[in-house]
Amino acid sequence: MTVRVRLAPSPTGTLHIGTARTAVFNWLFARHHGGEFLLRIEDTDRERSRPAFTADILDGLAWLGLNWDAEPVIQSERIEEHRRAISQLLEAGLAYRCYASEAELEQMRERQKASGSAPRHDNRHRHLSGEQEQAFIAEGREAVVRFRIDDGASIGWSDLVRGEMRWSGSDLGGDMVIARRAPADRIGDPLYNLVVVVDDAAMAISHVIRGEDHIANTAKQLLLYEALGLPLPVFAHTPLILNPEGRKLSKRDGVTSVGEFRTMGYTAEALVNYMTLLGWSPPEGMAERFTLPQAAEAFSFERVNRAGARFDWDKLNWLNAQVLHELAPAELRQALVPLWQAEGWQAPGEEGSGDGGREAWELALAELLGPSLITLNDGLEQARPFFVRPDLDAGASQQLEVEGATAALTALLERLQDGGLSTEGAQALLAEAAKAAGVKKGVLMKSLRAALLGSLQGPDLITTWLLLHSSGEDRTRLMLAVAPA
Ligand code: GLU
Repeated sequence: MTVRVRLAPSPTGTLHIGTARTAVFNWLFARHHGGEFLLRIEDTDRERSRPAFTADILDGLAWLGLNWDAEPVIQSERIEEHRRAISQLLEAGLAYRCYASEAELEQMRERQKASGSAPRHDNRHRHLSGEQEQAFIAEGREAVVRFRIDDGASIGWSDLVRGEMRWSGSDLGGDMVIARRAPADRIGDPLYNLVVVVDDAAMAISHVIRGEDHIANTAKQLLLYEALGLPLPVFAHTPLILNPEGRKLSKRDGVTSVGEFRTMGYTAEALVNYMTLLGWSPPEGMAERFTLPQAAEAFSFERVNRAGARFDWDKLNWLNAQVLHELAPAELRQALVPLWQAEGWQAPGEEGSGDGGREAWELALAELLGPSLITLNDGLEQARPFFVRPDLDAGASQQLEVEGATAALTALLERLQDGGLSTEGAQALLAEAAKAAGVKKGVLMKSLRAALLGSLQGPDLITTWLLLHSSGEDRTRLMLAVAPA
């Protein structure tokens, strides 16, 4: 069997982490089997669907590296086919028009509530006579189309994640609406369960892989496959993503869209790696840090857990740091420069002038910061004092008050020359200045860090100094540090 899977996002919001994780599992399964990963944009909710959301979803999937194999199918363009399927069901007597008004349905729900019974449709118009229908039409009533769900039906399937599943028709809420309310000579807008079945069959989808919140829909959809005489796909229902407290991840948890993770400085590589681990455990011997192709090779539903997967920021951060630390300095520079530019920060030196040029400086800064980065945005914050003169924090101010600090920095300033400075040269200057001022070299180094970065924390001191030296910024900051307050 050729594996053909699909992601069917509704463009009613930006790319949600849950949808993206469903995409990951679909993609991995397709790639593992040399099959196809397809997209269908489920835009039949006209009120809430927006082209901008479709663009965000496609952009997010592409960014994550989840490439798809054909032009996305646009569900709203297939509405005539959906209507034909509904006509087929009406003609076969498997669906019927229901004229119950909203007010009547409301009354029914109230009664059920009052008597403490579960809410379900009572199938009141399942067996209307021709005259009764004519009477409703004459009253000017509109109708929905309902698909018959027999209480006695027993629906089963073998789920790739959850194993043998069985549902009773009586648990599906009564006859299901498959077309919205419309004048009785028309078929209103077709609804989700119907269109999904028609489209999945038309796209020859072999495996439907989606979140477990769709399990009850699957039971209903299986009845529709049967009624329409369509071949069945295999189903796999993936566990939900839970927040760190174990409840379903929701908007209230703050970050839920892929774009937000991206803005926070997470890399696509780390995010897809992390999403794969949200529900899938790699086989024994396989590390938790892997690329998409590596995961595709190892992927199977046998290692997808049934239990919901708790979101773990520490693990995502750990993976993101791994990815950043694996980058070559040139790649890291490429990732960081746009962030620096967006702040209006410009590196010293001429563009394209080799060793002493701007690129070399940016590369050196990227290499300096690289090992301490967890997110790319850390590479923004930690780069700030290299572009913007910092204020002194409390620790730095105290350090500059230490006995001998000013004398040593002054001695250093006196020896500082414009033009090239090497690591060895810098070390020698430190030793000379400390000796001349009669302080330990350690005191001078700590004071130099305070003067240059406004803080006692930061990356390697000598490299920091050399970078700030290329624009003469070291001299300015030293002068400010020794100037009487
Ligand atoms: N549009 C549905 C959703 O976003 C698709 C569900 C499915 O995969 O069938 O939840």
